Amino acid sequence: ITVKKAQLYKTVFKPEDLPDTPYNEVAFVGRSNVGKSSLLNTVVKNYRLAKVSSLPGKTRSVNFYFINDKFFVVDLPGYGFAKLSKAEQQRWKKLIESYLIDRDKLKGVFLLIDAKVGPTEKDIIMREWLDYYGIPYCVVATKVDKLRKQSEKATLKKMIRRKLGIDEDIQIIPFSAKTREGRIEILKQIEQFLEQ
Ligand code: GDP
Repeated sequence: ITVKKAQLYKTVFKPEDLPDTPYNEVAFVGRSNVGKSSLLNTVVKNYRLAKVSSLPGKTRSVNFYFINDKFFVVDLPGYGFAKLSKAEQQRWKKLIESYLIDRDKLKGVFLLIDAKVGPTEKDIIMREWLDYYGIPYCVVATKVDKLRKQSEKATLKKMIRRKLGIDEDIQIIPFSAKTREGRIEILKQIEQFLEQ
């Protein structure tokens, strides 16, 4: 895929506002501060799509980006922000679950894991949801420029597989918004998801 055009289509705060569209979509999810906005901006060619947040967890909405007038990239709200109130956490859960439960246009999800933090409890829950709803997914290890050696990448992948409870058939893509490593692999994976 070459991204020629990208535009924000809709920002959704409530489940009932989730749009019905005739186009297929792929979604990105992860804990807040995992580097999701940076990744989206890098992958979709620095169109400055998603605002890189200085305040983690600021974005509580589901953002739909229309790419090449052909498909959607869906930016799901980040989870695990400690300062979120119980009510806000409930709201987040309801929104994200309503999205995942009944989304026949959703062809694949990228689950983002911070290379330096590893999978958290909420990442494991997310992985379980994806399995439960039968949604194809892959894992992206973000901020891999922080790893000191290339060899750490193999260890990282093993650790992610073990903690997240996934086997070899689920792909793990190392990614850095700094070096742009992994950008092509993510675009390829988007294409594969959309072809399914
Ligand atoms: P989001 O909350 O998941 O959307 O995360 P952001 O994209 O806003 O990034 C959170 C923080 O991590 C920011 O301070 C970014 O500068 C930093 N960050 C994001 N991606 C990378 C990366 O690939 N490498 C490094 N070293 N830092 C990153």
